[in-house]
Amino acid sequence: MAKPAAIGIDIGGTNVRVALFDSSGQMLEKSSSSTGSAGHAADLVQDLANTVESLAVKGAETGAEVAGVGVGAAGLLDTEQGKVVTSPNIHFLDGFMLGPELSERTGLPVQLENDANVFGLGEGWLGAAKDAKSFVAMTLGTGVGGAVILGGKLWPGKFGTSGEIGHMTVEPEGLVCGCGARGCLETEAAPGWMVKRAEAALLKGRESVLRESLEARGRITGKDIFEACQEGDPLARELFARAGRGLGIAIANVVNLLGLDFFVLGGGGAAGWDCFHPPLKEELSARSRLVDPERIIIKRALLGPDAGLVGAASLFLKDRGDP
Ligand SMILES: [Zn+2]
Repeated sequence: MAKPAAIGIDIGGTNVRVALFDSSGQMLEKSSSSTGSAGHAADLVQDLANTVESLAVKGAETGAEVAGVGVGAAGLLDTEQGKVVTSPNIHFLDGFMLGPELSERTGLPVQLENDANVFGLGEGWLGAAKDAKSFVAMTLGTGVGGAVILGGKLWPGKFGTSGEIGHMTVEPEGLVCGCGARGCLETEAAPGWMVKRAEAALLKGRESVLRESLEARGRITGKDIFEACQEGDPLARELFARAGRGLGIAIANVVNLLGLDFFVLGGGGAAGWDCFHPPLKEELSARSRLVDPERIIIKRALLGPDAGLVGAASLFLKDRGDP
């Protein structure tokens, strides 16, 4: 009898990764290529279809039968239609009907999902939130992405835009976010914004070891800020105190609203855990007055860059049942 399998695709700004999974979440085969090499949406979708086909053939040799293809991509998506409305990194995908196009070329059902959502699904299936049925997952990167998983299922919201915790206001008079609002969580806690804040402070003449990084390489990274924080640099510590505070406020708001007790933090920015976790806990304790803050579990993501692939494949493999 054929063993159920599914293919997960992670379309990133730099690389496209495709992998075949069995129903236990074991990765059977994988492939990676550069996103930009395609240059056009039609070329990208044809490359994807070729890869999907070759993985499906390899899977079939071992008795695996592909049930469908889950695709995780950044940007504004119409998941019902399988359309990329706008892509922040891959502009040639703007307005492209990726789901139907890929489905037509592969003969397989295709489900498109936001990158933060597939990250959350992956961590929920096999990662840090394996034992939690309901939780919020957050990715810290250029911005802050999020996924709301309730009873083992993604909560899409009326407009398919749920989980945008990065745009929760945590500082009403804060900086203007890319979304146009002021003081969104990501302007306080995303490594991308921490870098901007660090550079602005240095420009104003603030003393910090980060100046060496800036002068040596012409730029600062999130990793530089984390290392500076660990060395006790006051500017870096301030930035992480801010980030932790923002995350603590956002998490306390979610706890108060939904009564959730489980949160997963991933993405490149989670590497700064040791610096933002103490202020996060402190802020959460100050603001979670109805639920004992000690009962709120905050974990680091476990699957690393594979979370999105796993979560995308899970769209066709996993049925975790009712809450
Ligand atoms: Zn925003």
